[in-house]
Amino acid sequence: MVALTVYGGAGMVGGNQVLVEDGEDRLFLDFGTPYATRNLYYEEYLKPRPGTGLLDLLTLGLLPPLEGLYRRDLEPFQGLWERFKERPGYRRLEGVTGVVVSHAHLDHCGYVSFLRPDVRVYASLITSVIAKALQDTSPTDFEKELAYFGSRTAKEGGYLGIEGPRSQRPFTFLLTQNDSVAPPGEPVAPHAEALAFWDAVPLGPRTRVQRVAPDVLPQYGSIPGFRLRHFPVDHSILGATAFAVETSAGWIVYTGDIRRHGSQQGLVREFLEAAQALHPVALVCEGTRTKPAERRVTEEEVLEHCLQAVRGEEGLVIADFGPRNIERLVTFYQVAEASGRALVVTTKDAYLLDAMRHAWHQMPSLSEMDGLLIYDELRARDSTWEKTVREKYRRLFVGSKEIKASPGDYLLCFSFWDIDNLVDIEPQGGLYIYSASEVYDEEQGYDIDRLRHWLDRFGLRSLGLPRRRGDGGWEISPGEEGFHASGHAPAEDLLEVVKEIRPRLLVPVHTQNPGFYVENLSKEPIQVREPRWGVGLSLP
Ligand SMILES: [Zn+2]
Repeated sequence: MVALTVYGGAGMVGGNQVLVEDGEDRLFLDFGTPYATRNLYYEEYLKPRPGTGLLDLLTLGLLPPLEGLYRRDLEPFQGLWERFKERPGYRRLEGVTGVVVSHAHLDHCGYVSFLRPDVRVYASLITSVIAKALQDTSPTDFEKELAYFGSRTAKEGGYLGIEGPRSQRPFTFLLTQNDSVAPPGEPVAPHAEALAFWDAVPLGPRTRVQRVAPDVLPQYGSIPGFRLRHFPVDHSILGATAFAVETSAGWIVYTGDIRRHGSQQGLVREFLEAAQALHPVALVCEGTRTKPAERRVTEEEVLEHCLQAVRGEEGLVIADFGPRNIERLVTFYQVAEASGRALVVTTKDAYLLDAMRHAWHQMPSLSEMDGLLIYDELRARDSTWEKTVREKYRRLFVGSKEIKASPGDYLLCFSFWDIDNLVDIEPQGGLYIYSASEVYDEEQGYDIDRLRHWLDRFGLRSLGLPRRRGDGGWEISPGEEGFHASGHAPAEDLLEVVKEIRPRLLVPVHTQNPGFYVENLSKEPIQVREPRWGVGLSLP
């Protein structure tokens, strides 16, 4: 019997955790952090306690109660599972051998951190490298231990603490012929630099690391129990991948997050054609944007608007966007070049860009990018990963004094989390371009409020920054649209994606509004099955 069970991602945006079962063979499609649920209980300073391992996460329903799926070292006491046996969705789940990860946004991969150490992660090389770079540059956080983790043991009082070496997770890098450095006809192989980066865990010389050599898988390959195909697609992060998994009921296709209006449209077209040719029994498709009448903003439009705005500004310009969004970085690089400014990124972004270069040949080295500089943040001491950036790119560093002396020469890539550096730069006016995702929840709303206070304090005007509406919702002020292009397909494109792939069954995930597909596909020979959390859909 073949069954699909959606946990995270059922009726909510993000946190995708989709179980595929074919007899005894089991696989997850993504295993993300379910932020919608997490935000009900937690915020910045109230987090799941690492010392209690799985307990908090299972109690609050952030992890589905699947005994046998998670790291044993995170069970804080014997008999932990007795507490959850009566829970809806509880079952013993053995035999999950892998998780395919669609991209490196945490709502798709964050909770891989909790899976048993022998569950293999299948992800594109770029996704793997980004996930590791994010972990390398963050303080130790048990919710973000993707590439490597520290085993925990019970200390006095039952509190779990890290002991012994860190262990790498088993990864299989999914490679297309394009990412491979092997000559055509030879088995695909990643660049040696990518492997060296994977092996370098920047935790200082005293931390031992148990290495697990990564595998590689070509575009037409097999994993235990399934044939697996992977297709590079377009989203607001490099390395985004869609999948097709062959089961005894037929192919199951999974879009991950996807759009057709970005610069990688060709990839998406190839994916749609290949997926259609498989005549899939089921399509697991995202549905983030289902409201009609949303404006379609393209990356070219973003470039045009930003360039115009920056040309009209004599003071400092700050651009706020996700650095993993390489397309947007390239846009601002062009804006900086065309307006005679240097583009300044944070050390963290420089580390990430440098890491991505090992996996993505098209990307030049930072020192080859004319006019690219790295912001020299005021800090007591560099951590290991920061030292590597400084040693490699010492001459690219620029400090607050230089920027303060001639703010009109720079375009700074900062986000809200870097905004405290304004105290050192002391801008007198200037422009802040908000080029990031729309406001999804109240938490983000408070950050926008704080950001606005910072901008007011230093006299920076903003463009594209969402405002509170009278009804409590958020909107971009009229006339300030077009500074951000979404990573997700708008409603009409989503329907086109589904119609082109033409599956027998459609299972909408990553959406608050699965009914959108029911309403709009009633005339198509496609059956829409709205998933309910933890309830298996059996495939004919
Ligand atoms: Zn995403």
